[in-house]
Amino acid sequence: MTDGTTRILVAGFQHETNTFAPTPASYGNFANGEGFPALRRGDGVLELEPVNLPVGGFLGQARARGWEVLPVIWAAASPSGPVTTDTYERIAGEIVDAVRLGRPDAVYLDLHGAMVTEHHDDGEGELLARVRAAAGPGVPVVASLDLHANMSARMFDAADALVCYRTYPHIDMAATGARAAGLLARLLDGERLRLAWRRVPFLIPINAGCTDLEPARSVYSGLESRGGDRTTVSFAAGFPAADIPDCGPVVWAYGTGPVEEIVDRLYDEVTRDEAKWRVTLLDPADAVARGLEAGGVGPVVVADTQDNPGAGGSGRTTGLLRALLAAGGDEPA
Ligand SMILES: [Zn+2]
Repeated sequence: MTDGTTRILVAGFQHETNTFAPTPASYGNFANGEGFPALRRGDGVLELEPVNLPVGGFLGQARARGWEVLPVIWAAASPSGPVTTDTYERIAGEIVDAVRLGRPDAVYLDLHGAMVTEHHDDGEGELLARVRAAAGPGVPVVASLDLHANMSARMFDAADALVCYRTYPHIDMAATGARAAGLLARLLDGERLRLAWRRVPFLIPINAGCTDLEPARSVYSGLESRGGDRTTVSFAAGFPAADIPDCGPVVWAYGTGPVEEIVDRLYDEVTRDEAKWRVTLLDPADAVARGLEAGGVGPVVVADTQDNPGAGGSGRTTGLLRALLAAGGDEPA
């Protein structure tokens, strides 16, 4: 089936939602893209092929494999509070309508996995369920996700294959989209990929998930070899700043190998010694005190180490300035 007549519908809708953050994600945030490329539709989506995004990696694979791409929409906004109902319905509606009208042979979605909306705790589960209903049961639906996805049973039920990044800070976005394309190719060839997944019974602090450091470095670098040729293994560390039932890390695998055994072994590695995932963070007063102690040796940098301020916070708070003033430090910048 993987010849020029295979029509793949491609769309993207990414948001990492901090349900504790005060600022919602509105349509304008997606239109501008903020830290991401701006919202685009139709052939504009194809311009993302050279970009290190999951959709870029997927489009490169689609071209190499001779698939016909039906580009619909691609939209992402910076992490924040929940996506507004209007915004979600507008963008999700465009995707679902295109699936219904386009009657593609398969669907690829570039998603985050931690989207919460004003009206749905599980933005991706809801979208995948709607796409599944529109596509029908026999049409493969695959999606790529961020490493900080909060996986749900609904997502696994609706999709035929899901993969997520293996690096944090994230540098393997295009590679993840390409991995999704590889699984889709197997589905289109008629392979039946079995799924196994398990939820980790604790939250992992975002900072503990850095794949440059242990324990995440070893866990993530081992994923490729765990699966071998026939099984694709994933570990979403989750996005803990989300007060939803499905919040937390999940390990899973798709393939024709012994997926249950592979997932059980990975689960054991992640959950053995929960304390290894603990990180020590300083509150602003302690950070300023530590910085003043180090004074004289050079500039002192106090950093929020997430990849965005407060993992969805507005970045407009003054707590650190207050701590600096209270400590009476000289020449803070
Ligand atoms: Zn992330």
